[in-house]
Amino acid sequence: MKAARFHGKRDIRIDEIPEPTVGPSQLKIKVAWNGICGSDLHDYLAGPIFSPQPGKPHPLSHEEPPVVFGHEISGTIVELGPDVDTNTFEAGRHVVIDAVVGCGTCSQCSLGLKNLCATLGLIGITGWGGGLSEYIVTDQRNVHVIPDSIPLDVAACIEPLAVAWHAANRANFQPGMNVLISGGGPIGLFVLKVLKARGAGKVYVSEPSTQRRNRALAHGADAVFNPLVSDVFSQVIAFNEGAGVEIAFECAGITPSLDNCLKCTRSRGTVCIIALWENEGTLNPNVLVFGEKVITGSACYVQCHPDVIAAVADGRINNVADLITRRIGLKDVVELGFEALVNDKENQIKILVRPA
Ligand SMILES: [Zn+2]
Ligand SMILES: [Zn+2]
Repeated sequence: MKAARFHGKRDIRIDEIPEPTVGPSQLKIKVAWNGICGSDLHDYLAGPIFSPQPGKPHPLSHEEPPVVFGHEISGTIVELGPDVDTNTFEAGRHVVIDAVVGCGTCSQCSLGLKNLCATLGLIGITGWGGGLSEYIVTDQRNVHVIPDSIPLDVAACIEPLAVAWHAANRANFQPGMNVLISGGGPIGLFVLKVLKARGAGKVYVSEPSTQRRNRALAHGADAVFNPLVSDVFSQVIAFNEGAGVEIAFECAGITPSLDNCLKCTRSRGTVCIIALWENEGTLNPNVLVFGEKVITGSACYVQCHPDVIAAVADGRINNVADLITRRIGLKDVVELGFEALVNDKENQIKILVRPA
């Protein structure tokens, strides 16, 4: 079968590889759609960062480059291993994949926090095949059946929605809270959708791109600000009846964005960092001291898929297809996929690839 494999920086190739075969507790899934993620872009532009280095196999997958890419996966079950739970899974059912793989034995895994595993692995980044190929085999623990009412293209967005859902959990988000999202890229917009679905009060989005600000408004933002031309703090205070927000989500990965999040959060509020930072940032600790503010990070997700699937199925999270800005075939994954996400940030949010 054909697969898009990451060989190294700016080197993704369509290779012919053997079709995978199911192990005892695995499912073979025919991939319907796979979304390209911001972390894939980090690897593509400057990697290997998250995927294994040449000569240094990942401790859990034991794989090194080239690895099949793609972790935002929807598809259809075509084959079940002999030990798979047939009450949950059957051939023909539509599924999505939880890409997070823990070792199962470290202290974090023992607490049920596989996303914080000391040797964290991710399907489609650190090994185990990926969604940018016709088929993938995955352990049943990482597979979630979805109702047929969720279209498979929308289903490919359940993984990034789980990232956003987990961030809201990490920030102790409660219905009615007013929130700032700093950065209106794919993750910022998915956070917006999740917060609105979970009953947020006012949600403000700070984002330099006009197109992305307009998208944020179309998806329920109560006000949007351009941080390059206006002071985000004064804007938030003006729109938020003189008060700071309860939570600010940092989705841009740069110091000015973190500064705005810290400033705009009210006393005892929370700043939750979701962005992956390419460079170190700075912050003024006194802002935390005098405001008794909390900073937390949010890494991938753990046990969020059932909640997200339910919210998409019952329409609390809706209009996701509008964030899918392009659908392409595997042969175009570099030119119309990765390169488009690098060069056309204004217009591209989520690009989906149909591998076969
Ligand atoms: Zn991702
Ligand atoms: Zn572990």
